[in-house]
Amino acid sequence: MKSANLVIALTKGRILEETLPLFAAADIVPTEDITKSRKLLFDTNVETVKLMVIRGSDVPTYVEFGSADMGVAGKDLILEHGSDGFYEPLDLQIAKCRLMTAVPVTDQTDSDVLKVATKFTNIAKHYFAEQGRQVELIKLNGALELAPSLGLADSIVDIVDTGKTLKANGLEPKDLIADISSRVIVNKASMKIKNAIIRDILSKLSTAVKAK
Ligand code: AMP
Repeated sequence: MKSANLVIALTKGRILEETLPLFAAADIVPTEDITKSRKLLFDTNVETVKLMVIRGSDVPTYVEFGSADMGVAGKDLILEHGSDGFYEPLDLQIAKCRLMTAVPVTDQTDSDVLKVATKFTNIAKHYFAEQGRQVELIKLNGALELAPSLGLADSIVDIVDTGKTLKANGLEPKDLIADISSRVIVNKASMKIKNAIIRDILSKLSTAVKAK
């Protein structure tokens, strides 16, 4: 009997470039150059293992609903999505950055209700509720850094790596919300049904992460 396919959803972009060497070390190599193709589903050297390459924000959804058995996604997107629908067994320790609040360098806000622009509205809602701060959240999908200077928000919640993007827009990081890196997530039913192959891949990936 032919064994069932195992579909792994990878996040495209900069995370993919750091993910592929770890999967190669775990003996999973796509049969063509993923980074140069417009295809979304790829065969690998292992006949039953397929790789999907999609937006990071869609990886938790595909894994939760089982269209993908496993996935690699940034912790920021996992927190924003909510992680009840899958397991998160491994930190790949790649694409490390911080999720932070940031304010104008000349910040003088003392209003009771802070206006916060972010694409991470669920994370921000929980964070400010824990801080006991009343906020008005403004959902933006890009160019967040412009919101304070244009009067749309007092503060933003965003990913910070080097801090150069903030600085170039007259902002500075303020409070750390979470340290971020890319994680492997696994569909709960797949973990039971395809346990042997998933355990094998996780174990090899874990060895590759430790060897780095
Ligand atoms: P930087 O100027 O180095 O602080 O980079 C900040 C911008 O790069 C942010 O607005 C993010 O959109 C993006 N960025 C940096 N690192 C990551 C990461 N690991 N995952 C996703 N986005 C990132």
